[in-house]
Amino acid sequence: MLIFKTIPEIRDFVKREKSGGKTVGFVPTMGYLHQGHLSLVEKAREECGTVVVSIFVNPLQFGPREDFSQYPRDFARDSAMLGDCGVDALFHPTGEEMYNGHHNTFVEVAGVTDCLCGKSRPGHFRGVATVVTKLFNIVQPDRAYFGQKDAQQVLVIRKMARDLDMPLAVVTVPTAREPDGLAMSSRNVYLTPDQREKAPVLYKSLRAAAEAVSAGERDVNKLVGMVKQVINNTEGAVMDYVEIRSLPDLDEKEWLDLPSLMALAVRFGKTRLIDNIVLGE
Ligand code: AMP
Repeated sequence: MLIFKTIPEIRDFVKREKSGGKTVGFVPTMGYLHQGHLSLVEKAREECGTVVVSIFVNPLQFGPREDFSQYPRDFARDSAMLGDCGVDALFHPTGEEMYNGHHNTFVEVAGVTDCLCGKSRPGHFRGVATVVTKLFNIVQPDRAYFGQKDAQQVLVIRKMARDLDMPLAVVTVPTAREPDGLAMSSRNVYLTPDQREKAPVLYKSLRAAAEAVSAGERDVNKLVGMVKQVINNTEGAVMDYVEIRSLPDLDEKEWLDLPSLMALAVRFGKTRLIDNIVLGE
């Protein structure tokens, strides 16, 4: 696996691969990799002749009181994992390489960023859309892979790619979970053993709502109320939000349209976990 730290190097590499007729698949990440990230890589490997992964902890998508400086990093372990997965090139730029000290241009996706994580984390999706646009312009992939774990993020990227005529396909990969249902996340390492034991309640409560939908429940407030009650009854869990929204526009509804997205964010101490389920899938 080749490792590039600068924009001209990765651009040259991709140019060579494309001129050899290869389809280029791209998986952007912030590193501290787990099986969730690797499932994106595996999908890209299946569908593309060349696979490029980026590792960049993007300061622009973290709020001033968020965990940018503490975000877990382990480049040696990450690059060994990616090498073992048959990744062709790893792009690992510095903050300086990406933002150059003078960065003044931002990508704002309106509408779908107003609710859910966009509401609890002001500026987050502006940071995501900006860095993903830059990475797309740098790597120029044919296909880019994102996890359903960050459901709103994929919707934002899809909308952005369509609105701005970005010439690539956005591919969504299902959420990889631990055996007890907890969605894999780089942030799970922050959890204490007690919090880790309780964290599967996110997915359990979503599953219970999905079962109620299968049994015929269509009242959005009732479904949201069920999940809130389960989370509020879990010691140490603090609800940030739980909502049901239409797909793909994330509109609010009183009565459920199928399929719809049910998404939640819950804090355990300083650690904020998110998860989601598509109701009626
Ligand atoms: P991150 O490193 O957290 O920015 O994530 C990089 C990519 O991996 C994003 O597209 C995420 O949605 C995806 N991802 C993270 N966790 C999971 C998971 N448990 N299952 C599937 N994809 C994931």
